[in-house]
Amino acid sequence: MAAKIEINHIFWFNLTRELHRRGRNKRESGAFLLGREESTRIVRAVYYDDLDPNCLERGYIHFNGAGFVPLWKICQDEKLRVIADVHTHPTTWTDQSESDEANPMIAQKGHMALIIPNYAHRLRFSLRGVGIFEYLGDGQWRQWTSRSGIVSLTCL
Ligand SMILES: [Zn+2]
Repeated sequence: MAAKIEINHIFWFNLTRELHRRGRNKRESGAFLLGREESTRIVRAVYYDDLDPNCLERGYIHFNGAGFVPLWKICQDEKLRVIADVHTHPTTWTDQSESDEANPMIAQKGHMALIIPNYAHRLRFSLRGVGIFEYLGDGQWRQWTSRSGIVSLTCL
């Protein structure tokens, strides 16, 4: 199984810390994860609330489509593409909500969605408890286990 996403350990640590900070341990937060063309390595996170400042206010993520404009500009300017998205859930429950399932952030086949438990409260260097979902198109998803290797935390 070839990894569809490679994330550096330190990057992951910083990402979870930042998601927790932005959610203030009481609301969900999230980010788009970007990589270069032809690469599975995540090199940049773009946080939802930097694109749409009001998107966290309801406690769950409600992302305004206008936020895609600055996102596409970043992709174009830095020659990156969106590989995955990540968001937090309040508890250890990291299945997709009905809304998560019905509204992929990027409705493109192969897009990956990660769900981090407990508002990313516990800083971690592992994928334990993280929900991993691949969008198959036509409203269909495939769930992967954290041990499947589909997401790989790398040292370099
Ligand atoms: Zn969710």
